Amino acid sequence: MAEVTILPQVRAFLERSNGQFINGQRVTSEGGETIAVANPATNEVIAHVAPATNAEIDAAVETAHHAFHGAWANTTPAQRGLLLNRLADLMIAHREELAQLETLSSGKLITLSRAFEVDYAVAFLRYYASWTTKIEGRTVALSLPSATGEKYTGLTLREPLGVVAGIVPWNFSIMIAVWKFGSALACGCTAVLKPSEVTPLTMLRVAELAIEAGIPPGVLNVVNGRGPQAGHALMTHPEIAKITFTGGMETGAAIGTAAMQSGFKRVTLELGGKNAAAFLPDTSPDRTVDGIIEAGFLNSGQVCASAERCYVHRSRIDDVAERLGKRLAAFAPGDPMDDESQFGPLASRAHFEKVTGSFARARARGARFIHGGGAFDIPGCYIQPTAVLARSQDDELMRQEVFGPVVSLLVYDSVEELVTLMNDSPYGLTASLWTNDLSQALRLIPRIEAGTVWINMHNYIDPAMPFGGAKGSGIGREFGSAFIEHFTEIKSVIMRY
Ligand code: NAD
Repeated sequence: MAEVTILPQVRAFLERSNGQFINGQRVTSEGGETIAVANPATNEVIAHVAPATNAEIDAAVETAHHAFHGAWANTTPAQRGLLLNRLADLMIAHREELAQLETLSSGKLITLSRAFEVDYAVAFLRYYASWTTKIEGRTVALSLPSATGEKYTGLTLREPLGVVAGIVPWNFSIMIAVWKFGSALACGCTAVLKPSEVTPLTMLRVAELAIEAGIPPGVLNVVNGRGPQAGHALMTHPEIAKITFTGGMETGAAIGTAAMQSGFKRVTLELGGKNAAAFLPDTSPDRTVDGIIEAGFLNSGQVCASAERCYVHRSRIDDVAERLGKRLAAFAPGDPMDDESQFGPLASRAHFEKVTGSFARARARGARFIHGGGAFDIPGCYIQPTAVLARSQDDELMRQEVFGPVVSLLVYDSVEELVTLMNDSPYGLTASLWTNDLSQALRLIPRIEAGTVWINMHNYIDPAMPFGGAKGSGIGREFGSAFIEHFTEIKSVIMRY
């Protein structure tokens, strides 16, 4: 056991009154309803957060609007890059504090909190910071001749959109928030973030660090509260120019509709997935099992890019199922605050109930569990790592996103059948192909309906590679230079001389 000692500043943060972070200051309305934050490893309530009132949401958007036209507009692109990098430095300096806050509220293994919520988040922030000085328009050769001999010149300007509402899920509460505000701020926009009600704490601390870094008050604000109340009020506010949302498909549909109905706000939607991992017949059973574990069990499966559908050739299925069952049996649940733990709880009691409910329905319909299929018999939201032999593509576990530590294995016979099965889903976020035959993989890539296709790997993201969904998994791309299009508007200028 290598239990991590909770830092005094983390204890103090949990004990204080937390609510919103607006115009560089903590704001907490006293006396109203509070949202309880529970540690899913123990189910103990560790903090309470006051949800934002409508007046607080108005204040957050107004201050962001003011900063957009004032303090942030008055910084040069180079200064903006420097300030984002300073925030990245401070996040590294506060690495353990941020990681502990995240682990205590989401149950994420402390090793993953350090790696993803700080180190990866910082890598993304620095990547966005590196773009501030490279956002450019173009000069354009005009197509139509001038009738009078006068000359025309065309140029395009890329202008920041304005105030961005970033609506964030609970599975990576800092990293996904950085995807939102890092890209917005780099383009010259300002931001109001709405974290998930499950993980409302960590971004409050990051916003404080932003002030310490010298980012002007009002540029980065955080409002808490439930989606249909605080989230809805924020995103439909008239001064919001753009909504960037990560979360479930149904919520995404509601947000897309509201964005159009409240003034045609620009919108980026990063939604769920029911992602496929396909193991071609030349992949050995051991490599297949390694691949399934890589694809399906990171962060107890609470990763939008995770594979929950695994396609295994008929000639390999018995071997793979037997070996996978043995490997999963060795996953021991551990305290996420222990450096040596390998397998943590789900993020909340509500999510635990949702996942166990889907297992119960599958069992009632005669599902064949290779391993798992229920909760560990210990306190906390611990679900067994689970693998199922699917009977058909129509099983609920093959169609609906569970967002937990579960994979369904389905047999295929031919590569043609495999492609059809992989594409048979309303989602299209990610997919992976596992094979030694790279030329076959390259021929298959154009036929796969997904925003990201991995070859011999799964769950790898990089700031330089555009990420987002095909089909029902969303609209738009984050990362790479693609983000610039989503936070700026092109203005065409045509001049006669
Ligand atoms: P969710 O859709 O329930 O909530 C996401 C956020 O939206 C939360 O902050 C919530 O408060 C808010 N919200 C809910 N209803 C709202 C409404 N009517 N108006 C405005 N805001 C509203 O999702 P979740 O359970 O927090 O996260 C899990 C989902 O997120 C999964 O489907 C997962 O696949 C997806 N996800 C996608 C990506 C990606 O990059 N594509 C990354 C991580 C998670």
